[in-house]
Amino acid sequence: MSKATDYLQSVYAVIEHRDPNQAEFLEAVHDFFQTMTPVFEKHPEYIEANILERLTEPERVIQFRVPWLDDAGHMCVNRGFRVQFNSAIGPYKGGLRLHPSVNLSIVKFLGFEQIFKNSLTGLPIGGGKGGSDFDPKGKSDNEIMRFCQSFMTELSKYIGLDTDVPAGDIGVGGREIGFLYGQYKRLRGADRGVLTGKGLSYGGSLARTEATGFGLAYYTDEMLKANQTDFTGKRVAVSGAGNVAIYAIQKVAELGGKVITCSDSNGYVIDENGVDFEVVKQIKEVERGRIKDYADRVASATYHEGSVWDAQVAYDIALPCATQNEIDGAKAATVIANGAKAVAEGANMPSTPEAIAAYQQAGVLYGPAKAANAGGVAVSALEMSQNSMRLSWTFEEVDNRLKAIMQNIFANSVKAANEYGVSGDYLSGANIAGFTKVADAMMAQGLV
Ligand code: NDP
Repeated sequence: MSKATDYLQSVYAVIEHRDPNQAEFLEAVHDFFQTMTPVFEKHPEYIEANILERLTEPERVIQFRVPWLDDAGHMCVNRGFRVQFNSAIGPYKGGLRLHPSVNLSIVKFLGFEQIFKNSLTGLPIGGGKGGSDFDPKGKSDNEIMRFCQSFMTELSKYIGLDTDVPAGDIGVGGREIGFLYGQYKRLRGADRGVLTGKGLSYGGSLARTEATGFGLAYYTDEMLKANQTDFTGKRVAVSGAGNVAIYAIQKVAELGGKVITCSDSNGYVIDENGVDFEVVKQIKEVERGRIKDYADRVASATYHEGSVWDAQVAYDIALPCATQNEIDGAKAATVIANGAKAVAEGANMPSTPEAIAAYQQAGVLYGPAKAANAGGVAVSALEMSQNSMRLSWTFEEVDNRLKAIMQNIFANSVKAANEYGVSGDYLSGANIAGFTKVADAMMAQGLV
C-alpha cells in the first residue's frame, strides 16, 4: 500500500470512529477521499501536515433550541444547526435547509461539500451550512415567520458579513430569507451582507433566484461541448420542482434541450411537449402546491406516483435536482437503460457511490454536484460584493459573470484531472481543484 493510500485509510478510520452514526457525512468524506490518492502521492507535505484530519473536523458546530408558537397557540420546539466548517479562504458561506430530515450528519455532509464547491468558484468564500428539522410544508405564513424569527434570534449571535453569511437551500426561499433578514436587522441593525438570496428591494442580486439552475445548465453545456455535442434536440429528465429544478428547466429549453420530466417527493410528471417552467413556477413558487397539479393543468402531461428515476422513458441527459441519494445503484441502472449519456447534479450528493460507479462503468459523462451546482453560491458571493459596493448590477451582468464562473469551474476541473493523471474524470478534477486551493491556504496559515 502506498503512503498516500495508507494515510487516507487511517484518517477515514479516525473519522468513522468519531462519528459512526453520521451516515451522510461519512459518505461524503468517503467519496471525496476516493479521489485523493494522486494528490497525496504528489504532495507528501500534505500528509506531514495532517491536512485531512484537520479539514474533516468542522471549525465550529452550533446546535440550538428553536421554540416557536403555532397558529393554534401550541408551543413547538425544533432543533437548529450551523456548522462553520472551514474559513481558510474566506467567511463561512452556505445555505440553511428546513426539512424534517435535517440532522447533524446532513448539515456536516453539506458543509463539507460546500468547502470545495466554494473554492471552485474562484471567489473568497469558506464553507458552512445550517438548518433545522422544522417542516415548512403545510405551515401558514405566520407560522413560518415565527419560526424564522426564533431561529434567527439564536443564529444572529454567530453570523456576520465578514464571518458567516447564510443563504437558502431546501425549504428556504425568498419568503424565509425575508423573515430571517428582518429579524436579524431588528436584533443587530442593518447589515445587508449578512444573508444572501434577499429580495431585490432590500439588497438582493438580480439572477440569484435563477443562479443554481442556470449555472447547472451552463456547466452541463460545457461538459457536452467538451465531448463534441450540446443540448440541441436532447431529451432531458429533471427531478425536483423547486428552486434549482425550475430554473434548470428554463435554461435547458433556452439552450435547445427538451425537459420531459420534473417531480416532487410524491411523484413526477412526464410532458412530451416539454415541461413548461412557467406553470411549475406558478404551482411551486406562488401557490405552494404539488407537482400533481401540473398534469391537471397541462393536457400533454401525465402524473405518476413514485420516483422519476424508476420511470422507463427515453432521455439523453439526467439532471437530478431534488435531494441527496435520490439515485441509487438500481435507479442508476434504469437511468442508463433509458439512454442517458450524461448526468449532471443540481442537488447535493444526489447519486450514491453505487450510482456513480454505474455511470463511470457505462461511460456516462458525470458532472458532480460541487462543480455543477456551484452557480448558486457563486451569485451569492456576487450579491455580497454588490452589497459591499452599494451597487446593483443588471441581470445581464450577473448572468454573464455566472456563465464565466461555470465555464471556469469546468475548465479548472479538466485541468486538475489532466495534471493528476485522471483525464476525463470530472469528479476527481473538481475535488482536486477545490481541495488544493483550500489545503494551500491552510498550510500557509500554520496550525489552523
Ligand atoms: P426546494 O425546497 O426549492 O425544492 C426541493 C425540491 O426537491 C422539491 O421539489 C422537493 O419536493 C424535492 N425534494 C426535497 N426533498 C426530497 C426528498 N427527500 N425526496 C424527493 N424529493 C424531494 O430546494 P432547492 O431547489 O433549493 O434544492 C434542491 C437541491 O439543490 C438540494 O439538494 C440543495 O441542497 C441543492 N442546492 C440548492 C441550491 C440553491 O441555491 N437553492 C444551491 C446548490 C445546491 P417536496 O416539495 O415534495 O419536498
